[in-house]
Amino acid sequence: MYTAGGTVAVVSIVQKYYRVGDRVPTSGVYRVVHSGHRQKHSVIAVRGDVFPRCRFCKDAAVFILVESAPYIAHDLDFAGPSLELQEG
Ligand SMILES: [Zn+2]
Repeated sequence: MYTAGGTVAVVSIVQKYYRVGDRVPTSGVYRVVHSGHRQKHSVIAVRGDVFPRCRFCKDAAVFILVESAPYIAHDLDFAGPSLELQEG
């Protein structure tokens, strides 16, 4: 029998992933899953870039956000407009 509760349980284990050509939504560490020619591995992708094609599995690679981490040049406190700072 098909139940709503079962559906929720299934959905909860599906991770959101991004495909080749998608815009990187959040800077950080992504797990790359290839189509079998290579083990999963991590990369750093920067928000606004586009997830690139794999030279072997082409568009089959998928990217799963592991940990968001702003690129320092995009971080407001390091790259935002200068504010008057006072010593002490
Ligand atoms: Zn690949």
